[in-house]
Parts: sequence; C-alpha cells; structure tokens
Amino acid sequence: MTVHQKNLNIEELVAKDTAHHLHPFTDHKSLHAEGGARMITHADGAWIWDGNGNKLFDAMAGLWCVNIGYGRKELAEAAYRQMLDLPYYNTFFKTSTVPATELAAKVSSLMPDRFKQIFFVNSGSEANDTIVRLVRHYWALKGKPYRKVFISRRRGYHGSTMISASLGGMEAMHGQGGLPLPDIAHVMEPDWFQLGGDMGREDFGLHAARDLENKILKVGPENVAAFIGEPIQGAGGVIIPPKTYWPEVQRVCRKYGILIVADEVICGFGRTGNWWGFETLNIEPDIVPMAKGLSSGYLPIGAVAVSDTIMSDFVEHGGEFFHGYTYSGHPAACAVALENIRIMQDEALVDHVRQLSPYLNEALGALSDHPIVGEVRTQGFLGAIELVRDKQTRERFAELGRVGGLCRDHCISNGLIMRACWDTMVFSPPFCIGRSEIDEWAVRARKALDATYDDVRSEVV
Ligand SMILES: *Cc1c(COP(=O)(O)O)cnc(C)c1O
Repeated sequence: MTVHQKNLNIEELVAKDTAHHLHPFTDHKSLHAEGGARMITHADGAWIWDGNGNKLFDAMAGLWCVNIGYGRKELAEAAYRQMLDLPYYNTFFKTSTVPATELAAKVSSLMPDRFKQIFFVNSGSEANDTIVRLVRHYWALKGKPYRKVFISRRRGYHGSTMISASLGGMEAMHGQGGLPLPDIAHVMEPDWFQLGGDMGREDFGLHAARDLENKILKVGPENVAAFIGEPIQGAGGVIIPPKTYWPEVQRVCRKYGILIVADEVICGFGRTGNWWGFETLNIEPDIVPMAKGLSSGYLPIGAVAVSDTIMSDFVEHGGEFFHGYTYSGHPAACAVALENIRIMQDEALVDHVRQLSPYLNEALGALSDHPIVGEVRTQGFLGAIELVRDKQTRERFAELGRVGGLCRDHCISNGLIMRACWDTMVFSPPFCIGRSEIDEWAVRARKALDATYDDVRSEVV
C-alpha cells in the first residue's frame, strides 16, 4: 500500500472540516460539540486508518459498497486510462461511449435474459427517481395513466432525494421536507424479530405479505404502478424476511398486474452469495435498480435494468423519454465498474462469499450467547446483531437507539466498524476477507458487546 498523503496535520484538518464541510446524515449540534468528524486517511483490503493512526476493521465495506475491498490498483488504472482517452462525453441524443456500451452489455449478461436494457445514473437515489418516472410513463403509454401509486415498506431505504426518500419508509426522513410525496403508500416490513410477537416466523411472513394485499385493495389495484422492496432491507436493520414472504408478495403483485422493483443497491453484486438478492430470495422482478457494488464504491455510478416487457412498450410507442443525467454513463465510472466486475469474475468473489458465509454465520452467530444479544442473523455477507434487555421476550432497551449507539462507539474503540440501526448492529464486510479476519472481527465484536453490557447491566433482565 502506498500512502500519498503524508505528515497530515489532523487537528487542523478536523477544524477546517467542521468549519466548512456540511456533512450528510449528521446532527450538526453534536458534531460541533464533540469536536468534529473522524478523518479517514487511507485503507487497504478490509482495513481503514484514521488520522490518529488507529487501524479499524471495516465490517461495513464503507457504506455497504466497497465489495472488492480497498486499494485495488486495477480500478485506479482503469480510471486513469479512460480519463486520458475520453474523460467525458454524454450519452444523450443518440451518442454513446465505449465504456458505457460495454458496461451495459456486461451488466445485462449478469442478469436473467429479460433484462437487456440498462439505464445509467450516478447513485441509488437517482436509480429510484428514474424508476418512478419510467414506470409512470410506461403505464401512461399503456393507456393507464392512473396507475401511479408506488407501494413500499416501512423502514425500507431507497435513497435520499425527494422521491427516493418518499419511497423509503424512514419516519425521521419523512418528518423533514414535507414527505412522502403523493401517490406513495407504505406497508409492514417483514421483521419477525421486532414485530412477530407470538407468531412463528413463516406465519409472520404471510401476515406481512397480507398487509400489502390489504393496502392494494385500499388504494385500488387499478391505481397501483409498482411495489418496490429491497430483497433484504439494509439500512432498516438487515431484515432477512421469512421464507414465505417474497413468494406471497410476488403472487399478490402478479394477481393485480403490479410491477415488482427489487432494489438491489445493497444486495446486488454478490452481497447475499448470489449475483443478485432476487436470486437468493426467489423473486422475479421487472425492474432492478443497482448502485453501490457496481463499482465497489470506487467512483459514483448506478444503473436501472429494465425488462423486455416494459422496453417493448417504449420501443413500440416511441416518443422521447425526457429523462437523464449529465453524467449518465460517465466513461470513467463505467470503466471502473467494468474493471470491478472483471475482478469479481476472475477472482470468483461471489463464490467466495457463498462458500465463506457459513463460517461467518458461525463465528458471528456464536455471539448470540451474549447476555444482551437477542439474535444474530446473516445471509451471505450481510447480517445483524439484535441488542435486547430481555433475551426471552426480545424486549428492547428503553430509548430505542441509545444502546446501539453505545455499542457502535465501543466497536470503534475496539478497532471495528459496525453500524447501529437503532439497537440493531449491522454488518456488510468486503468480500476480500478470509477466516482469520472473521475470527479477529468476532473477537472485537465480543469485546464491544461486553463493554456495552457493562454500561447497561442494571437494565438487563
Ligand atoms: C444506499 C441505498 C440507496 C441509495 O443510494 P445512494 O447512492 O446513496 O443514493 C438506495 N437503495 C438502497 C437499498 C440503498 O441501500
């Protein structure tokens, strides 16, 4: 690893950052009170370093995105070469570039046959914005302009733009900026651990799917454009649905002619042990937004895969679809994504995830004997640890999110990045890890849990 930034004055940088950098998803009062952000300076494989010289195991792969791991020169070189050949050209108005063409074909080749057409964007949020416009336009072309309503789940995450935050089911986000926008409805999330009560897992899966059918009937099936869901909800707390859930959701959607959008922004590109989360969860979607893993986060790029049935209407009816971004199909981002996929394929990283996931499940699963752990669940390289005050009843600690925050801080003190979604610790490690790194991670996680337990011992049942 070569570190190009040497002799940094971290204190000065943090002060500058606090003074000028307006951070996303941040409580600005506490950022100022706590003396600013943690400055991350470099990274290699699954490890990141901060400005104080601390080395941390990044069990989140950045924000669920650095799937191949940090420090891959090949991706930097792909960007460098492409920027010299052609740093930018647009893909509007019947022009194209070589990397955009090659990447569209490559992504299509990784998907079921019906996904031949790929639309490029710069993020997951833009992918979902694109989908809302595209699907509503599709229904208008079919003479059903009243089919406008999107149904999604509570605690779903689909991005942070006005429409994608509306599609998402995060109450706190809806509370800011007048969301959700009209014609978006939310239904129950298939979270057995939190909502299942006395129901068995599989019964609860059907129960959650029934909430979708009830909502469809309430809205009027003829008004519903599409159902959107992450195969496994990520930012909502890695909610791995009961096996009964998705097949029933799919049956209900088909019954009423409602399109299915599988948001693969986290699950896509191998995260669950297959190329796509919809393969793991047995879903046959009509539209697939993707982003994070497409370039392993090395450059911003996302995409929307559109099935033949939808595309044939666009081709048949003609008329311009007035939608696109200056950087749709950005040549350097496409070149990096192509190189990322080449590495994924040449190094069989999806097989690696699938083969190593039982080991990860066992190593992290062993934490379920801990006094404040209610459940550990994993699917591929995606998972969650539930923190509870009562293991038997799955009762949470008072003030949801407080103990999760404590645990996250103890993780960091122990050289480990895991994220807290309220009181659910979540993880999504890079694919480049092996058994020894998983072992090291589990040791650090237990230390963090022990320290958290020390803080809240008096509350535990
Ligand atoms: C991160 C995420 C998004 C939004 O992607 P951005 O690139 O942050 O806009 C959308 N959907 C899911 C499932 C995500 O996890």
